[in-house]
Amino acid sequence: MDLFNKQIWFQSFGSGSSGNCYFIGNQEHGILIDAGLSARTTRKNLKNMGLDVKNIRAIFITHDHTDHIKGVVGLGEHFLIPVFATPQTHTGIENNYSVVRTLDRSKRFLNKEQSINIEDFRITAFPVLHDSADSVGYCIEFCGKIFTFATDLGVIGNDAAKYLQSADYIILEANYDNEMLRNGTYTLALQNRIRANTGHLSNEQTGVFLAENFSQKWQKIFLCHLSEENNTKELAVQTVREWLLKNNKFKENEVEIVALNRKSPSKLYVF
Ligand SMILES: [Zn+2]
Ligand SMILES: [Zn+2]
Repeated sequence: MDLFNKQIWFQSFGSGSSGNCYFIGNQEHGILIDAGLSARTTRKNLKNMGLDVKNIRAIFITHDHTDHIKGVVGLGEHFLIPVFATPQTHTGIENNYSVVRTLDRSKRFLNKEQSINIEDFRITAFPVLHDSADSVGYCIEFCGKIFTFATDLGVIGNDAAKYLQSADYIILEANYDNEMLRNGTYTLALQNRIRANTGHLSNEQTGVFLAENFSQKWQKIFLCHLSEENNTKELAVQTVREWLLKNNKFKENEVEIVALNRKSPSKLYVF
């Protein structure tokens, strides 16, 4: 079997403070990054792809905020899907008000920078800064391609930068537009929390990073975790595009920039 000729499927089921969940795999099997939608909604989304929870080999949690873990017990314990997270994130999940039952049979630990293999997926967690118990991004190698997920982070540190640079496909946060946040309804205290190093990435931060670190390996850039109050898909794509255009290696027709829907699934991308 030639792993490099197999299809890769990618779909976001939801991205943002209402719930985050991403599928990567193919028609045979897959993994989920985060379980921030209910088990019921996640199953419905899988069904729309022609899949079932039985096709999910594992769930990888980025951090213990409710929008990333709401469905974790319903999926993990109910359907016995292994739920991988760092030890501190598992403690955070246990302490989260939205989690009524603890993870038991589905609980699995992982450590940052220690890759694990599940069938033909190779998964590496790397540290990111955020106001949670502990936070990681994920680098997923599958069928010869690298997907790097980095969501909910205030700055792009060296670890995240390394994995983003080596990716073929990037899923990176673009949470807010500077002007919209400044002129919106959020209190100054909340604005400052979002802007902090342990908060979220702005469109501009993401654009600057991508422009300064542009790699010709990049095939697609998915912008994720857009704020409902302080961003629009158009602004996020436009800001990131404007920054990327400052790097003359970036060719607009070669790398598509996609802002993921907040509350509805993206289309199914087949690579
Ligand atoms: Zn979040
Ligand atoms: Zn968060």
